[in-house]
Amino acid sequence: SDLYRIDAWGGPYFTVNSSGNVAVRPHGRATLPHQEIDLLKIVKKVSDPKPDCGLGLQLPLIVRLPDVLKNRLESLQGAFDLAIRSHDYGSHYQGVYPVKCNQDRFVVEDIVKFGSPFRFGLEAGSKPELLLAMSCLCKGNPDALLICNGFKDLEYISLALFARKLALNTVIVLEQEEELDLVVDLSQKLGVRPVIGVRAKLKTKHSGHFGSTSGEKGKFGLTTTQILRVVKKLDKLGMLDCFQLLHFHIGSQIPSTALLADGVSEAAQIYCELVRLGAHMKVIDIGGGLGIDYDGSKSSNSDISVSYSLEEYASAVVQAVRNVCERRSVKHPVICSESGRALVSHHSVLIFEAVSSSACDDAPPMSPYELQYFIEGLTEEARADYLNLSAAAIRGEYEACLTYADVLKQRCVEQFKEGSVGIEQLATVDGLCDMVSKAIGAFDPVRTYHVNLSVFTSIPDFWGIGQMFPIVPIHRLDQRPAMRGVLSDLTCDSDGKIDKFIGGESSLPLHELEGNGGNNGGGQKYYLGMFLGGAYQEALGGVHNLFAGPSIVRVSQSDGPHSFAVTRAVPGPSCGDVLRVMQHEPELMFETLKHRAEECGQGDDGGMASAAVATSLVQSFHNMPYLVTGSSCSMSAM
Ligand code: PLP
Repeated sequence: SDLYRIDAWGGPYFTVNSSGNVAVRPHGRATLPHQEIDLLKIVKKVSDPKPDCGLGLQLPLIVRLPDVLKNRLESLQGAFDLAIRSHDYGSHYQGVYPVKCNQDRFVVEDIVKFGSPFRFGLEAGSKPELLLAMSCLCKGNPDALLICNGFKDLEYISLALFARKLALNTVIVLEQEEELDLVVDLSQKLGVRPVIGVRAKLKTKHSGHFGSTSGEKGKFGLTTTQILRVVKKLDKLGMLDCFQLLHFHIGSQIPSTALLADGVSEAAQIYCELVRLGAHMKVIDIGGGLGIDYDGSKSSNSDISVSYSLEEYASAVVQAVRNVCERRSVKHPVICSESGRALVSHHSVLIFEAVSSSACDDAPPMSPYELQYFIEGLTEEARADYLNLSAAAIRGEYEACLTYADVLKQRCVEQFKEGSVGIEQLATVDGLCDMVSKAIGAFDPVRTYHVNLSVFTSIPDFWGIGQMFPIVPIHRLDQRPAMRGVLSDLTCDSDGKIDKFIGGESSLPLHELEGNGGNNGGGQKYYLGMFLGGAYQEALGGVHNLFAGPSIVRVSQSDGPHSFAVTRAVPGPSCGDVLRVMQHEPELMFETLKHRAEECGQGDDGGMASAAVATSLVQSFHNMPYLVTGSSCSMSAM
């Protein structure tokens, strides 16, 4: 299990239990051993098709773990509370969750519920996000902040002002200077006193992949000149008391606390200047950026790692704000952060199945008779290449063997293209070259494991920005993997593969499939988990190749006979569901196909019977899982 460094990236939530399976510690390290949840048991329970045993859900499967979410939120709050106490800070921390990281209703509702004792709020960046945040916060702490970011039109601002009328603690954060006129006009029309914030474009720049939002040329926010114009305008209107919050966002995955402290200090200076200019400042909102150590390397030179802990992050922020405010004799503001990735990444695991693997050494050894036949069929030049190859092999010149094998192969490929070599000869040359490579240890034993999902739908950041996530078999970790593999999804797209893994590896240690995986029946199924993907992945994925999202279950720790309880289960979409996404009408399609089946059946004896089979097949496609199911299962369904 050390092979996958689970303790490094998965602690304190993921570990390997005595059965060799990945287990979840829903309350972090404090979880008692009998409360650990075995992921394989969840998969077996929810995928079992027998109604009295399981739920018959198809994979891939997202397992949501609300206990982990609660622990993350409490750990973040605890880290800031500790920093505030130890630096003798004169105000409090009050975070918000940026719903864009995962807008799932139950994730947002859980955060509002778990965060209620801490006045934890929400951040929205679009009209639908604002609507869902408004409705969720109606059940939350009345002091929780509702931060309205993003580009805003008239309707967005009207909604945000309406939220203030509903007594939600709403702040409209200006991302563009022009938004101010809309806010002023509408607030006067609606008779609402707005609370206004400004997003500052800081000079501090984060140089990693996620830093393109930061620096003077960043996409979002107001420059110092624009901020000054906002102050003047509000002053003129007698509305400077409405200006209460300063926001900035350096970018996601801030690599080090040094960079963080630099950005926070710059923003704290702007905050103090705004106080000096008469704004009624109350909150400094440091945006997102609290990073996740996806590979467990604790490195500040990588987009997928960070060199600090939650406590070190909080301490750097509190210290930086305090230092500036003390120097400027400014009252310490409430510190707000918009941590998304750090809050939700751990709470869900994507589980999928390897349905087959392509064997690379399938070719059986050649008999002397076959070899003779092969040599006789070669052209004169190719035969000379072959003789060079065997002479080098006899002399033990391995490098030369590889070179001659390559020359022979190239020549045969050329001759195949010209039509002078047949397909059997070509296959024999391929087998011969593999045999040579294998014999001298240059053979690349990496296999392709076909996994039952779409990379585009379920791990879009891997495809889009090359982001890596820990991927690990969730069982058999007490057995040493005998193979290495890359993962190929089931879409008809060559980009749909995973061939880069954490630790810079181009393949993953994997176990041999038993009976070549579940799809060919017989053997034990082989399940893999993708971890730390709870942020961003679910909303980004599309329906490329009409492969849609996974089934989702919500699993809580339970002290009953099992260590867990499935508190919610949503099956993945059917073929009918995904077709509807692209405007097809499955009911009409069914009628068309049924009609055709009846027409084709007329006149031949078995016609009516085949029409009936076709009809029932087509009828079932409404509910047919859109992904590959195990053969025994799909056959019996037909
Ligand atoms: N706030 C704003 C304005 C953002 O743009 C983002 C994401 O990029 C976040 C918060 C969340 O950032 P993170 O997921 O790094 O915490």
